[in-house]
Amino acid sequence: MSRTKLESFPKTQLTFGPSPIHRLDRLTEYLGGKVEIWAKREDVNSGLAYGGNKTRKLEYLAAEALAQGCDTLVSIGGVQSNHTRQVAAVAAKLGLKCVLVQEHWVDWDEVNYEKTGNILLSRIMGAEVRLDAAGFDIGFRKSWEEAIADVIARGGKPYAIPAGASDHPLGGHGFAGWAFEVEDQEKSLGFTFDNVIVCSVTGSTQAGMIAGFAHSNRAQDVLGIDASATVEKTWDQIKRIASRTAAAIDLGRELEDSEIVLLDGWHDGIYGVASEHTIAGIELVGRLEGMITDPVYEGKSITALIDLVKEGRFKDGSRILYAHLGGQPAINGYSTAFDR
Ligand SMILES: *Cc1c(COP(=O)(O)O)cnc(C)c1O
Repeated sequence: MSRTKLESFPKTQLTFGPSPIHRLDRLTEYLGGKVEIWAKREDVNSGLAYGGNKTRKLEYLAAEALAQGCDTLVSIGGVQSNHTRQVAAVAAKLGLKCVLVQEHWVDWDEVNYEKTGNILLSRIMGAEVRLDAAGFDIGFRKSWEEAIADVIARGGKPYAIPAGASDHPLGGHGFAGWAFEVEDQEKSLGFTFDNVIVCSVTGSTQAGMIAGFAHSNRAQDVLGIDASATVEKTWDQIKRIASRTAAAIDLGRELEDSEIVLLDGWHDGIYGVASEHTIAGIELVGRLEGMITDPVYEGKSITALIDLVKEGRFKDGSRILYAHLGGQPAINGYSTAFDR
C-alpha cells in the first residue's frame, strides 16, 4: 500500500507534526453559509523561520542530504523566495552551510524588495545569498550550476535542491504524506472534504497531493490554482512529478490527465504581482479571519476559492479545504500594493 511505502523513505522531522485544520467561520458565513470553508495551515507547520510548504517537502530531501554526508545545501529562487528562506532555516537547524541563488523573477520595484522579508531572514540565518539578474523560470539554471561548482571548488559537498524543491525524485513525497495526514484528520472530524484548493507554481505540492489522494481516487478533487502564469509548463511539471511520486510510493497504476486539475483564471497574467482583485481578496480574508495571505501565491488561491464559491462551483453542503502554504514574510516587500 502507498502509505506504508511512503513511510519506508527516511525523513528528518522539521515540522511540528500534523498541521492544524480549522473552519473559517466568518468567511463561510460571508459566502452564504452553504459551502463550508476550512483551512489546513502549512503556514504554521514548523518553528523553523515561519515554516511553509517547502519545510514539509524538505523533510525528505534533508534526510537524503544527511545520509550522503553533504555539508552545504544549495538552492535557487526569486529574490523574495519563500523556498530559499526555508532551505536556509533547515541548513541552520541541521548545522549545514547554505548557498542561495536569488534571481530577478519578479518585476516589482519597491525600495527594500532585495533587503526585507524572506531575503532578510535568509541572511540572518547565515546563508550565502547571491543575487542574479536572470528572469522567472521554474527549470534548471546556469547560476545554480555555478553555485554548486563553487561549493565543490572550496572543498565542500553540496546537496542541490531545485526551485521549490520540486523537480527532484523526493520532491512530491512531503505532500503525498499530506494527503494521508488529511485522511487521518478526516477520520477524527467525522467527514471527508469534497475539494482541496492549492496554489501551484513549481508543482510538487499539488503533485504530491495527487499522488497521495490517487490511492483513494480523490486526485481530481484537488483544484490547483496556477500562480506561475506559465500554465502549460506548470501542468506538465505537476503531471511529471505526480507520476514519479505515484510510482515511487507504489500506486500501482498510471495517473490519468483528468486527475491533474490546474485552473488558470487567477494568476493575474504574471508571476509575483497581484491584481487589484487579488489584493481585495487578501484584505477580505485578513478582515474576516485574521488570516494573512501574500500577493505572490496564497492571495491568488484564496481569491480563486472565494470566486469559485460565488460562481456556484461547489454544491450546497460541500466542505472545501484550503491548503494555506505559507508565504507571509514576502508581504514586507509588497507594502505599496496595500497603500490605497
Ligand atoms: C512555493 C509556494 C507555493 C507553490 O508551491 P509549489 O510546490 O511550488 O507549486 C505556494 N505558496 C507558497 C506560499 C509557496 O511558498
